Amino acid sequence: MKLLTNWLAATARLPRQHKLALASLSLLVGAALMWQPHPFSSSRDRQPIPIPNDTQNITSVEHSEPIEQGLDADDPALRVPEDALEKDITSEAPRTHQHTVAAGDTLGGIFSQYGLPISQLYQMLDENDRVGDIRRGQNMEWQVDEQGRLLTFTLYQSLKYRDQYRFEQGKVAYARLETKGDREKVTVIGRVNSSFYQQARQAGLTPNQIQNLVSALQWRFDFGRQSRRGDQFAIQVDKEFIDNKPVSSGNIFAMLYRAGDRDIFIYRHTDGRFYDEQGQSLDRALRRIPTAKRYRISSSFDPHRKHPITGRISPHNGTDFATPVGTSVLAAGDGVVVKARKHPLAGNYVVIKHGREYSTRYLHLHRILVKPGDHVSMGQRIALSGNTGRSTGPHLHFELLKYGHPVNAMKVPLPEAHPVPSQERGEFQRQAKHAQQALEQRLNG
Ligand SMILES: [Zn+2]
Repeated sequence: MKLLTNWLAATARLPRQHKLALASLSLLVGAALMWQPHPFSSSRDRQPIPIPNDTQNITSVEHSEPIEQGLDADDPALRVPEDALEKDITSEAPRTHQHTVAAGDTLGGIFSQYGLPISQLYQMLDENDRVGDIRRGQNMEWQVDEQGRLLTFTLYQSLKYRDQYRFEQGKVAYARLETKGDREKVTVIGRVNSSFYQQARQAGLTPNQIQNLVSALQWRFDFGRQSRRGDQFAIQVDKEFIDNKPVSSGNIFAMLYRAGDRDIFIYRHTDGRFYDEQGQSLDRALRRIPTAKRYRISSSFDPHRKHPITGRISPHNGTDFATPVGTSVLAAGDGVVVKARKHPLAGNYVVIKHGREYSTRYLHLHRILVKPGDHVSMGQRIALSGNTGRSTGPHLHFELLKYGHPVNAMKVPLPEAHPVPSQERGEFQRQAKHAQQALEQRLNG
């Protein structure tokens, strides 16, 4: 309230037209504040969950795709083909997705960023009305089916407790699971015979742990193409034991991978991320906006978008920017062009694969300046925007996909490639060195 009083006092001294401008601005700000996904109050009172993104004016489709012509996110023409490693990882279990709660995050907001069905959040809320009590730094993970619907959702409350929601035949079951055993750091070692994936499984790693390692190293080493028979690895992992038997697989702390005579080492910092022995980031950054300057967003990411008349769901899996024809389109990150051609709905389009985790799509282009197989760097001009395919006006449709699932490029956390903060780096390097030597000894001895 004090803020508002200050604001009123300040505006009293302004000329009239400024006051008017400010007043309408404050209305907008007020509306935005009211609309923000609600953080689910910690009281036991039931609270309605506002559905993010439903304030968007969906009847206006100028500079966008016609609403009834939603592009199929799974259209093979637009997809990045899976390689052998990818197939191995997804063959045993659905891929696990993860998120660490950041300041200001709400569960509704997180569902919206990753395109998870809000209706399933309501189901979880019916089972446990405290599901929305999340705090910064907390970890959550989930698995989805082919349609992007949740199969499981797990929220880690502490080292000891985790809340799990399992979806089956339209119903959800909730359980608070407890870690009962002792945790112990163990080292697993292996030698690649058929593939890294197979040997890592034999050494006792779960598909999820392998996925994490492969993702962490995606820019330094491609396990799908560079891994060879005879390569060796040693991995330090935190396992849970009951009566001296391992019952679950915890975090990975360090890995040494010996590819021929090249050693690759990664170590996990207290922030939960992996770095190299120097504390340098393993990630490459990605940009949210694939143009040199910002253009108006004519249609936002909304996987649950409803047709205003028919009420049918017509997902919008990307963000539309109202770019004039001929605007330079820039690669969102370093990567390899996997598709560059024409599609009846998407028009001229480009698909880029960034490491193993992300891919981006750029649709309705006027002219394409790259070809499949080209390596591109972040910010490189790849096309000129246009109005080709099914489009109601010049615009750029931009999609970001994480493991093949569309996510909100404007909101989802992106890799930033920061090193370990300088004040923590000395301690990190000491610990990393220690772990590296221990793993080297295991491989040499
Ligand atoms: Zn679009």
